[in-house]
Amino acid sequence: MTTDVLVAGGGIGGLSAAYALATAGHEVRLLERSAEFGEVGAGLQLAPNATRILREWGLLDEVTQAGVLPRRLVLADAVSGDELVHADLTGGFQERYHAPYIVVHRSDLHRILVDACRRAGVRLETGRTVERVDSTEDTAFTYCADGTVFESRIAVAADGLTSKLRRAVADDEPICSGYVAYRGAIPLADMPTEVSLDDVIAWIGPRCHLVQYGLRRGEMVNQVAVFASPGFARGEIEWGGPQELEEAFASCSEHVRRSLSSLWRDRRWPMYDRLPVRDWVSGRLVLTGDAAHPMLQYLAQGACQAIEDAHTLAAEVAKTGDTPDWDTALAAFNAGRAPRTARVQRTARTWGDIWHIDGVGRLLRNELMTSLSDVYSHTDWLYA
Ligand code: FAD
Repeated sequence: MTTDVLVAGGGIGGLSAAYALATAGHEVRLLERSAEFGEVGAGLQLAPNATRILREWGLLDEVTQAGVLPRRLVLADAVSGDELVHADLTGGFQERYHAPYIVVHRSDLHRILVDACRRAGVRLETGRTVERVDSTEDTAFTYCADGTVFESRIAVAADGLTSKLRRAVADDEPICSGYVAYRGAIPLADMPTEVSLDDVIAWIGPRCHLVQYGLRRGEMVNQVAVFASPGFARGEIEWGGPQELEEAFASCSEHVRRSLSSLWRDRRWPMYDRLPVRDWVSGRLVLTGDAAHPMLQYLAQGACQAIEDAHTLAAEVAKTGDTPDWDTALAAFNAGRAPRTARVQRTARTWGDIWHIDGVGRLLRNELMTSLSDVYSHTDWLYA
């Protein structure tokens, strides 16, 4: 039952890590607790820092065919409806970052990664909940809830925001922002408002925002509405329910308010992150993805950073030669990745504060954004 690599968690992060390491020639086993592989049926933005890697992995064409290549990334004031600033995602953008900005249905990307892992020979197992990992000098022992124990040279924790394996390096808990997200991905024809399929647009307002973009070659529209819950602020146990949704957007434009009617009401996502931690390695266990650096979703980077993790981990292992020096590779991966993802985590929080500001701050923000002459000076650090 020994493999080179055991990956715990079959989300976008775990599948990416499994694929990157398997195509580099390592034997990989991936354990997912759910009975079937899958993702929530909503959209995902992939910036060039992730699509460059997908191209290197030979998966970009498939992802592009399943998704949409938007022409603009737009910020607009949710109250006045005025456009504030946009990044042109066509010619100059793609030349600068050597890859496109893509929006894709999560289940499409997830399926593409599962298929790619199968082709690369990853042993994929569902219905296996990982409980903990113990290490000796050169082996990771992964203990599952059903009593199975797996041996590997390294274990990669990709078990998400509520990671059990993270306990080996930190005794922290996810931090609730008091904001909650509602999502909805529906056929374009069913949208109550007109949505430009050329744009990824974020309508930003006081303590709320709405993101809209096209999916599946423009056949569908994806929406994410996020707001600060008054119930959470009052300390209520049940908070962020649908009754709060309409009220939170009451001051917004008619377009924004009417668009809310097509959001799913039966499920919602309270928004959590954690503070950055420096050490992701314990013995032969290493954290990746949301298990390592969960972030608020305002930069649309959580999955992109998980893909970066996978790419860097495989590259660091490769650097150590034909007989991998796993300890050196894990240390180099940790040292290279933790400062970058810490910056993304912190910036995501600040970005949320800027989006959700009210009063005179909102007026100043709008003034600054409308007069912004160099959008790239804000995106180079992340996308380049
Ligand atoms: P997860 O997706 O949480 O996957 C963890 C997997 O591990 C799951 O399959 C789970 O079932 C499994 N698992 C958990 N525990 C165990 C266990 N003990 N044993 C075995 N398996 C286990 N990011 C972007 O890049 N772009 C976006 O546009 C974007 N939009 C977002 C919008 C919203 C509303 C939210 C909430 C997030 C968004 N993100 C976005 C963030 C992104 O979704 C996450 O960062 C990313 O999916 C994390 O992937 P992961 O594989 O690390 O974790």
